[in-house]
Amino acid sequence: MASMEPLLEVRGLRVCFGPADRPARAVDGVSFRVDAGETVALVGESGCGKSVTALSLARLVPEPPGWYAGGEIRFVGTDLMRLRPAGLRGVRGREIAYVFQEPADALNPLFTIGAQVMEAIRLHRPDEEAQSIAASLLEKVGLPAPEALMRAYPHQLSGGMQQRAMIAMALACRPRLLVADEPTTALDVTIQAEIMDLLQNLQAELGMAILLITHNLGIVARIAQRVYVMYAGRIVESGPVRNVLDHPAHPYTRALLDAVPRLTGSRARVSGIAGSVPDPADWPAGCRFHPRCPRAQALCRERLPAVEEAGPGRSVACHFWRDA
Ligand code: SF4
Repeated sequence: MASMEPLLEVRGLRVCFGPADRPARAVDGVSFRVDAGETVALVGESGCGKSVTALSLARLVPEPPGWYAGGEIRFVGTDLMRLRPAGLRGVRGREIAYVFQEPADALNPLFTIGAQVMEAIRLHRPDEEAQSIAASLLEKVGLPAPEALMRAYPHQLSGGMQQRAMIAMALACRPRLLVADEPTTALDVTIQAEIMDLLQNLQAELGMAILLITHNLGIVARIAQRVYVMYAGRIVESGPVRNVLDHPAHPYTRALLDAVPRLTGSRARVSGIAGSVPDPADWPAGCRFHPRCPRAQALCRERLPAVEEAGPGRSVACHFWRDA
């Protein structure tokens, strides 16, 4: 029988910043998995630790100021936490590729698009003909006149075109996992939809898995199969997307859903989440969401809720999720 081993399995990951005697515990015991070919979303507000989690997967958190305090990152059965730098270089960009929020920051303004895509190809596929592969990648990501575009500089492209070029670079190595960290946040709404469609189409064609990091639950509902909700360095709820979004068990998930703008009649209605994400160097005692939770009780201020099973493929970390 075929092995059901996940493509990626993260167990108890802890990533800190700053001094050991008062660390900022940005990622504090996070566990999740991504299966081959699926799209998994990691959602939460800014400052919840989701981008640090994403960077950690290929051990890209700069050390210092960051440091890994524990856990496992098993990718196709190998614990990346135990790999030496040479082994990690074989994983970064080749097996696990990234697309970030700001393509303008990620592209080098001094080199043409073609030179940058070809560099990525030569790094990972040195025996292949870089120029024709680069042009075909630019075509695959929907850029017009790829031969001419090879000679263009980043500033000559719109934001949406730059992000497509970044996706072409990420695909140069045919990754098994594409980590897309807020890939559309810097783009306007119509371009956002085009980029998400592109990622979905490429996934279907290439069979890669996608880990989507986002605060946008609309995008999650549209393209992900499973979702992990992160708050204050921990996973507070997870499960199949439709199930979690239709029946949220954790008050934070519910609050995120309430913060999605809805059109009622002629007016857009949105309710924000009171307060802000706490400082990772000073997480609140007990449940970390208690200062903002409308359902907090005395127990919440005293004890950190354990992660409990809440149905098939679902988990939640809230003392009172059954009362929801
Ligand atoms: Fe709210 Fe308490 Fe549940 Fe935390 S444990 S989410 S404070 S009800």
